[in-house]
Amino acid sequence: MGIDIEFPTKLQTVGRTSHGDGEHFHFIWGTGKNDGEAFSDANVKAAYEARGEEQVPLGIHGTMVAVDWDSCVAAGSCMSVCPVQTFQWYRTEQDIPAKDVLNATFAGTGKTEQDERLDYTDKSMPIREHDCTNCLACQEICPTHAITINQPYQEFHEKAAGTFVKLVGSSENPHAHH
Ligand code: SF4
Repeated sequence: MGIDIEFPTKLQTVGRTSHGDGEHFHFIWGTGKNDGEAFSDANVKAAYEARGEEQVPLGIHGTMVAVDWDSCVAAGSCMSVCPVQTFQWYRTEQDIPAKDVLNATFAGTGKTEQDERLDYTDKSMPIREHDCTNCLACQEICPTHAITINQPYQEFHEKAAGTFVKLVGSSENPHAHH
């Protein structure tokens, strides 16, 4: 199920995941949906059952590199194609319920190979969203269309972060001579 391309204008940031470098973080847009592929995928359902963990809507992780965790079925295709290791299996760093990733800090030490998921409750976390080179390989290969790459959404990321400064055009420049 593809991500609604207008998600940053329709959803709210419900949290963020910080990178252990103390500088970078990615937003989580919610509140998620319970009709994504993860809710009907046999592997994912069985893995949740084996853990005795409740499967709940998780939302979209990342803004420029947006991964819909309700559609992510832990195929790991994104990991096999990404040239800069934007993604990691979040549970291989911190084995906590996915809903608790909100406002957590990850060092970026999780596994990054396609088949290194802890189990099928694991998710592809765009922990190095800031390193994305915009090659679109992950977006094209994801079997459930759970990933959307959109570098211009840096603006939404920065607005949500409160750091957005609109570039002033020369015509709006108060110091310009008329
Ligand atoms: S667009 Fe390319 S560089 Fe960016 S996260 Fe996807 S595979 Fe990695």
